[in-house]
Amino acid sequence: MNFHLLCAWYAIGDLAAPKITAQESAAFLMLAACILVFRTFRERHLLVWILGWAAYAASGWFASDSTAFISSPELQAVSHAAFILALCLFAAGILVYTRTQKYILPLFVATGTITTLAVARLFYWPDEPTLVVALPTVTVHALGRRRHRYFIGVLDPCASAELTRGCPWDCSFCSAWTFYGRSYRKVSPEAAAEDLARIREHNVFLVDDVAFIQAEHGFAIGREVERRGIRKQYYLETRCDVLLKNQEVFAYWRRLGLYYMFLGLEALDEEGLRLHRKRVTWGENERALEVARRLGFAVAINIIADPDWDERRFAVVREWALSVPEIVHLTVATPYPGTETWLTESRALTTHDYRLFDVQHAVLPTRLPLDRFYEELVNTQAVLNRKHLGWGAVRRYGGPAVRALARGQTNYLKMMWKFGSVYNAARQRGDHDRPVQYPMRPRGPMTAKPNGAQLYVHDSVAQRRASA
Ligand code: SF4
Repeated sequence: MNFHLLCAWYAIGDLAAPKITAQESAAFLMLAACILVFRTFRERHLLVWILGWAAYAASGWFASDSTAFISSPELQAVSHAAFILALCLFAAGILVYTRTQKYILPLFVATGTITTLAVARLFYWPDEPTLVVALPTVTVHALGRRRHRYFIGVLDPCASAELTRGCPWDCSFCSAWTFYGRSYRKVSPEAAAEDLARIREHNVFLVDDVAFIQAEHGFAIGREVERRGIRKQYYLETRCDVLLKNQEVFAYWRRLGLYYMFLGLEALDEEGLRLHRKRVTWGENERALEVARRLGFAVAINIIADPDWDERRFAVVREWALSVPEIVHLTVATPYPGTETWLTESRALTTHDYRLFDVQHAVLPTRLPLDRFYEELVNTQAVLNRKHLGWGAVRRYGGPAVRALARGQTNYLKMMWKFGSVYNAARQRGDHDRPVQYPMRPRGPMTAKPNGAQLYVHDSVAQRRASA
């Protein structure tokens, strides 16, 4: 039968007697949901996803009559091509969302090649098993090839899992709370443990914004993990007051394999903590560090350096960092779109170069001359280098590094000597003189106290219910 006629016949036949499978229904539901969300948010990536779901629904529809599908290479070709196109559009939507459009052309070239191969196989080598197995295998293999490249410190390689999402606090520099309207959601203990059991890496980064805010939830997941005999090494991020309040759950997870944690101190004095609206005191921070040491955790800390700092402020941080055993890291205060400071920071941005918004460059006016600011910043970062990287790290972390090497993992070892290429005062200063390729959108008018409507990317469930 002529191919076009065949397709037309199918369309008319299905309109007359629709036979929608569960898979197609799911695709149509997702399509409708995307259209509804798009009508509200008008984001370009949603439009691409709508096309993706349409292609996915089409691929299912062409395969819905299994008898005709098996006997018709044309139907198979269209269905396969639509399926590959759907995957391509889903990936393209993510690229649009993450503003990495430069990968879209290679993605479409790869999609075209795979589609041509898949269609050619149907017509020319229908019984060639190598290609049947090779195509999906190559795709899966290509996706999984970089998996071993993810690592965090000695946790090499490292996978990630999420037990809760969102943060009920409201630190002025952070987008974790503005993203979900300060809401906080938990995954069920069974689902969390199942997720962890599926991870094949030994190291897992629990990427919750603030881990174990609710001790009972942490205990419940821990019991599931124990019941299933899951043994892994974990890294997580939490707040000092949460660690102080829920010491027992952290001690319990220490036994389950939690060893590394990140504590966002951000400032070394009450004034700084107040400015960042951390809602925690310096005394609590110090007590939390003592608790972490007593429980045997390896702790990383971040301090936010303000562009207004002079040499004395940097010297205070260096002195403190050298007096504690923790890994102390320094970032530069940066108003980001989506945070409160983007709307309230009264100092004008000195650059709109997207590349400089990486918390290692000053995008606000510095009190010190810019080159001096970077010298102080890098000198202070060098404390981290002396304590935890280079030959100092070989003494402390030589064992884990050798074990990683034995497994063929070289990420951590290579990182130990990269300090000079990452933190370099002259290069960081020179970055300001590069031509701007991708400018940030200018900020709107300053606001003294923005409200939820100006800040929240997604409203919380309570707010959605209230406005419904
Ligand atoms: S810095 Fe931490 S505690 Fe503060 S809002 Fe962000 S995630 Fe929450």
